[in-house]
Amino acid sequence: MKVLVVGGTGYIGKRIVKASLAQGHTTYVLLRPETAYDIDKLQMVLGFKEQGAILIEASFSDPASLLHAVKQVDVVICTMSGAHSQNLTLQLKLVDAIKEAGNVKRFLPSEFGMDPSRMGHALEPGRDTFDKKMIVRKAIEDAGIPFTYVSANCFGGFFVGNLSQMGPFIPSRDKVCLYGDGSVKAIFLDEEDVGTYTIKTIDDPRTLNKTLYLRPQQNIISQKELVGMWEKLIGKELEKSSITAEDFLASMKEKDYYSQVVVGHLYHIFFEGCLANFEIGEGGEEASTLYPEVQYTRMDEYLKRYV
Ligand code: NDP
Repeated sequence: MKVLVVGGTGYIGKRIVKASLAQGHTTYVLLRPETAYDIDKLQMVLGFKEQGAILIEASFSDPASLLHAVKQVDVVICTMSGAHSQNLTLQLKLVDAIKEAGNVKRFLPSEFGMDPSRMGHALEPGRDTFDKKMIVRKAIEDAGIPFTYVSANCFGGFFVGNLSQMGPFIPSRDKVCLYGDGSVKAIFLDEEDVGTYTIKTIDDPRTLNKTLYLRPQQNIISQKELVGMWEKLIGKELEKSSITAEDFLASMKEKDYYSQVVVGHLYHIFFEGCLANFEIGEGGEEASTLYPEVQYTRMDEYLKRYV
């Protein structure tokens, strides 16, 4: 397949570029004019080129350039930043280009987290991300563009390295605060596996117009189980405290906007259990079941890098 990655310099985008090249696809990476001013990003993009990627220049403020870019490929994967959720709706320009081009066999918009279609009840201000992702979904479906939505659950770097605590992305060797009794199941992924599963699915008819949920069985674990893995690795028990849902939500008040978003998302994941508290229905498929050949990383393995 000819695959275009939009947002290839990003946290998950660079893993998707890597996986696309590794799985033998002709991989195009969108190069925005802004990137030429960022030396690290530019070097990364040039590195992709060295590994065989084709750079294609286009800008979100130039619709003709986006149209030209998507006309070259069969599959478009967008990994646009979700940190500033207004960026997510920039994807509408990409949707317009894909609709006009008419040749794209599959579009994977920037999702890669919780399933936004299940987050209609989410707390402000964190729900904005889900709302924006749903606006993009509606535009895709209204335009009749073939799609796959990837629900990638918790990226390890954001949720495992810190034992799912707010603050630094590195695990404490002394103490940890559990959400409630720490027993609610969440789902954690190595980012490299997110890239691998995402690319596996782009030409799979079983996931056409469906959501691909990344739920490797051994990575459906609670915060307490995650902490237990870390304790085993360092040979030491951490001092544990716990916070109730009410106190955790109350802590939102004195926090800045970004931290309020994070508190809301953590609440839904670790108190409500929003990642694992539903069965995958007709509109979805599970990645490790579809692709059992992928040797996914378990979280005790993932944690070893921090020892
Ligand atoms: P990043 O913040 O790393 O940004 C990705 C890319 O977005 C950038 O490298 C850039 O690509 C592009 N971009 C940023 N701003 C603009 C702009 N104004 N105009 C055009 N392009 C822009 O994104 P992430 O990898 O963190 O997020 C990608 C997706 O993954 C999001 O949907 C997010 O919600 C989700 N996510 C999921 C997590 C999880 O744990 N499941 C954790 C974090 C994110 P370039 O310069 O290459 O054009």
